[in-house]
Amino acid sequence: MNTESIAMLAEQWKSICAGYSTTDLNDTFQFIQAHSLVLVDEFYKNIMREKEASYFLSDNLVQNRLKATLNQWLVDCFNVPFQQNFEEMSKKQLVVGTVHARIGIPSWLIMRGVREIENKVFHLQSFKVQKNSFVIINYIIQVLGFASEIMCRSYEVNVEKSNDIKHTYRLFSAMQDVAVQKDKQRGSLLDWENELMFKVFSDKVNFKHPLLSKSEFGLWFIHKAAYAFTGSEQVDVIIERIYEIDQLNENVLACVEKDKTIQLIQHIREKNREIQHLVDQIFQVAEYIDSGNDSLTQLLNRRYLNTIISREINFSRKNDVPLSLLAIDADYFKRINDKYGHAAGDLALQFIGEVLLESVRGSDYAFRVGGEEFLLLLVDSDLTRAQEIAENIRKRVQETSIRTATGNSFNFTVSIGCSLYDGHPDYQRFLDAVDTALYAAKNSGRNRVYLAQNKVTGC
Ligand code: GH3
Ligand code: MG
Ligand code: MG
Repeated sequence: MNTESIAMLAEQWKSICAGYSTTDLNDTFQFIQAHSLVLVDEFYKNIMREKEASYFLSDNLVQNRLKATLNQWLVDCFNVPFQQNFEEMSKKQLVVGTVHARIGIPSWLIMRGVREIENKVFHLQSFKVQKNSFVIINYIIQVLGFASEIMCRSYEVNVEKSNDIKHTYRLFSAMQDVAVQKDKQRGSLLDWENELMFKVFSDKVNFKHPLLSKSEFGLWFIHKAAYAFTGSEQVDVIIERIYEIDQLNENVLACVEKDKTIQLIQHIREKNREIQHLVDQIFQVAEYIDSGNDSLTQLLNRRYLNTIISREINFSRKNDVPLSLLAIDADYFKRINDKYGHAAGDLALQFIGEVLLESVRGSDYAFRVGGEEFLLLLVDSDLTRAQEIAENIRKRVQETSIRTATGNSFNFTVSIGCSLYDGHPDYQRFLDAVDTALYAAKNSGRNRVYLAQNKVTGC
């Protein structure tokens, strides 16, 4: 929102306050300070009863962080006429709206909580009956309503923007990465089936075979293809089949009768053929796609970063699976450009792009987020996998010489920050955590992997 609009909002806030005497403003501020904790309890007690709230807010988060934040917000809102910080506080409400949009908290949930605060204010005031009680109640309702109104303004703008980006992303990934992956993933599905048959027919006892939903194909379909083709009727059927096959797979592993096993395998094969057929059908969609690829490395660029991270965070929370993030930054890269030229630097960046793609599964996401800065989002991955991948990347870069067009060759290194998603609904915190880890890797000497949990590996 521009400066002019913020000045307009500040003016409106000022004119609300101008309608009340200094005594009324003062009495209200004191009342809020004395009762803010009760009001905060009322807010959360009621919104936590709503099913939707549980998608975003855990009890832990509410007790440890959010209650204190809301308490401060309440006090700050009624301190405004004394601080005369109308612009600053208007801006703050806009930021809160943006954060809610980022997390995906619906605005009705906030309004629901604010209504409970107002109701509690009325009850508390009815016990004391000051002579200006009605004026105080009126002022509180005006300010809470106005602050929520500002939040809704930025909430709507941001949700609209993010929906637009989500839409183009879906179309984009349908044509780009997903299309490239199609044949590869077809192969992975067949491999999964062949391996299972091989194990069954080689008469091994007590053998193990991964679930299809956790295989290369299953993860790719659930995390990428299903999203790219949201709305296609085939998507739900394919996911249903994947989980049915998981069940059949478990039955095969538990089955001791040969005939029964063969029957189960036959079922699995039929369902796999159906999946292949449905996957082919959805790929017949072809539309113009806005490019979200970085032209130098062919990795994803920043454009879809927020959309993808917030989607994967929601997946991780709902399905209780781990999610990890790596931030990779080339060390002393400026020196490479200075010494060998920009074109040589570009070769090194392309090499990083290749290493990243070769180190991950088709369901993971690789971004070039800045000049020589990269992010890897590792789905269904705990810190052990993330750390292993980070170490491999670090070692491969360190050990490989880059040959320039002019016949020189040079080596370089990368520093890597590594973080496990901690369940907080705001993806910005996840990005900040991995950035901090990267910063620590740089500060502790570069060419190393630093876990957000405080451990350093590498030389
Ligand atoms: P540090 O170890 O602290 O990360 O040092 P650094 O020199 O890598 O860090 P800094 O951020 O100061 O410099 C990054 C350099 O990356 C600056 C710029 O010359 C180079 N760079 C950014 N984008 C590109 C690009 O597309 N191609 C090439 N060749 N170089 C780039
Ligand atoms: Mg650098
Ligand atoms: Mg950098």
